[in-house]
Amino acid sequence: MYIPMFRAVCKHYGSVYHRNALPICYCQSVCFRSSNSKEEFRLKEECSKHPSTEFSQAKHGQFYQERPRLNNPFSSDAVLRSFLRHYVPKEINEEISQDLQLFGDRIVNEIDYLGWECEVNPPTLETQDVWGRRVDELKTSVAWKKQRDISAEEGLVAIPYERNRLHQICKLFMYSPSSGLYSCPLAMTDGAAKTIKMSNKSIFKENRELFENAFNNLISRNPKTFWTSGQWMTERRGGSDVANSTETIAVPANGFYRLYGYKWFSSASDADVALTLARIQDNPELSETGNGLTMFCVKTKNSSGELNNIQMVKLKNKLGTRGLPTAELLLDGCIAYKLSEEGRGIASITDMLNITRLHNAVSSVAYMRRILLLSRDYSRKRIAFGKTLNETPLHMRVLSDMEVETRGSMLLILKAAILIGKVELGVSTADEQLLLRLLSPVMKLYTAKQVYLAFSALIFSVDVISKPQMTMPSQIQRPVEVQRIRQSIITGAG
Ligand SMILES: Cc1cc2nc3c(=O)[nH]c(=O)nc-3n(C[C@H](O)[C@H](O)[C@H](O)COP(=O)(O)OP(=O)(O)OC[C@H]3O[C@@H](n4cnc5c(N)ncnc54)[C@H](O)[C@@H]3O)c2cc1C
Repeated sequence: MYIPMFRAVCKHYGSVYHRNALPICYCQSVCFRSSNSKEEFRLKEECSKHPSTEFSQAKHGQFYQERPRLNNPFSSDAVLRSFLRHYVPKEINEEISQDLQLFGDRIVNEIDYLGWECEVNPPTLETQDVWGRRVDELKTSVAWKKQRDISAEEGLVAIPYERNRLHQICKLFMYSPSSGLYSCPLAMTDGAAKTIKMSNKSIFKENRELFENAFNNLISRNPKTFWTSGQWMTERRGGSDVANSTETIAVPANGFYRLYGYKWFSSASDADVALTLARIQDNPELSETGNGLTMFCVKTKNSSGELNNIQMVKLKNKLGTRGLPTAELLLDGCIAYKLSEEGRGIASITDMLNITRLHNAVSSVAYMRRILLLSRDYSRKRIAFGKTLNETPLHMRVLSDMEVETRGSMLLILKAAILIGKVELGVSTADEQLLLRLLSPVMKLYTAKQVYLAFSALIFSVDVISKPQMTMPSQIQRPVEVQRIRQSIITGAG
């Protein structure tokens, strides 16, 4: 009712209206000059609030929901701290906890934001320059590169080779949901380091120095010398049945091999090295026996930075893991070095698979914990029916159910980390080794299913922020979805 009156008054005095509903008077000193009525006085006041400009802010109301905040994922995780107190000798625990506390601060103040940047700035690939020449230029975001440096500095791959697997797993557990999926190349890097370490050194022959050098770079804490590794197993025919799906052939050359094939799903295509499988060409005996695959190590670039006879054909357009450069690769005679006995490729790459399985499980449970930390914080901030959500028994029931599942899964991965640590230090019993063998695939599958349920509970418990335009759930949902797809597999290559 007031607006039409206002328009009438302003029109009378030669004012103009802003395109938005709120009117702006160009000649306020003239406007309302002779007006005495209460209504006109009110309109005059309204008008005077707006400066003499064509632009003004739209009004959206006073209420803005306070967002859930990430607090230090170590100090706010009582379960993690109590596990370490219980299972780790006091002095070592003090040292580890100090490192985890500092790392937790770094996650809140620096890394979490970088993770989001990786998600919104996915990698791009230019296969040709403007003149049509093949360039295969992979561009990753600044945040992705920074995650690499941080991973080296924090020893996210190095720690188990320096001292202790459990310490590393705790760090990865805190890091994974903020990593923008940099956790994926780290898993494969750790797997490659372990595989090289466990390999039969007599196979290296004249390439011994090359492998020692690769190992040292993979576990380096110096960002300048730190290398990452890919794991190229999946080909066009599919992933689980690796033996029957691998078409890549290895042609013997002078002290090395040349690989010809097409790798269909190669995450971390910016890696410095990759472990892969191929069938040696001039050995028909091996080709006829069940698998006959041999494991090879490939350096992706030569000393002048050119790709090692590899073409990046395209980047995958994925639902999740969007910051991660996953590519289809054509191996067109790329130079490779044998890393397993001939025909023992699958058995040998199992060391890598067991490590990546552990990383996958850690990542799933890490998302569960992160979902809970955020939901808990949100329950203290969101008011419904006159009280905060954490004062509502039914809501707390949802969160406590999630907490129970998360704690169970945390115990599973942390105990598996202790077991792997014991096996790596050579102090495990035969039963423990068998248990670990059984545990690794089961743990990976179970946690991938659990995290999906936790995500559903998140959507349920923070409904107002589950709208598509809100960032937090989508940042969690996409990797979780892909985690499930990747985990529903037998070999676990991805
Ligand atoms: C995001 C992402 C990144 C990836 N990155 C990589 C990478 O870096 N390197 C790489 O090598 N690969 C990678 N992969 C590929 C991944 O490893 C394969 O998708 C995986 O191995 C499964 O293969 P597949 O998709 O052909 O499914 P299939 O093998 O066809 O399996 C389909 C379904 O059948 C089930 N199934 C298969 N065999 C059996 C069986 N014997 N018994 C019961 N059930 C069975 C599986 O569990 C699954 O549910 C990636 C995949 C994704 C999604």
